[in-house]
Amino acid sequence: MVTIGVLALQGDVAEHVRALEKSGARASVVRRCRELDEVDGLIIPGGESTTMSKLLDAFDLLDPLTTRLRDGMPTWGTCAGMILLASRILDGRSDQHHLDALDMVVRRNAFGRQVDSYEEDLDVTGLEGGVFHAVFIRAPWVESVGPRVEVLARAGNTTDGPIVAVRQGNVLATSFHPEVGGDARLHACFVGIVGAA
Ligand code: GLN
Repeated sequence: MVTIGVLALQGDVAEHVRALEKSGARASVVRRCRELDEVDGLIIPGGESTTMSKLLDAFDLLDPLTTRLRDGMPTWGTCAGMILLASRILDGRSDQHHLDALDMVVRRNAFGRQVDSYEEDLDVTGLEGGVFHAVFIRAPWVESVGPRVEVLARAGNTTDGPIVAVRQGNVLATSFHPEVGGDARLHACFVGIVGAA
């Protein structure tokens, strides 16, 4: 059984833990370097990317996390987590960290300030069992990707809609909150990726 950590500095931690356990993984919360050392993969949850960025410093996790990412730890960033994994952030704070784990430019709060939240049934490449009901909350989108990044879903399910799910090797990012709504298929996919890594 794989052990998957959920970065628990802030944000949607408990829901991810439940979805991971439902998907056959051992789930643990990660707040310290020692806890990060013990996991086979990591979820960086939704929340607030600028706050999480500051807390990475406060908890002395920035360097250990950067090292694990560089060494190929399977990682999935959702919403604020997607922002943290980017190689470049648009509309972020100038001092916020980006972990450079996915070759993508992410626009923070991209769906517009007035649209706090919207929901949509998304076609996600490779996901069996039909559309995935995606909940977006002050969500980012991916403005552009490098050649090694596979686009898995676009808002509106159109070929030119904003990119909202991507994968580069064993690193995934989604703009939406897959832990909301009880559909654990994406968690099951990630557990499979961690198991195969
Ligand atoms: N807008 C948030 C940020 O900048 C992300 C929102 C979320 O994770 N639900 O981090």
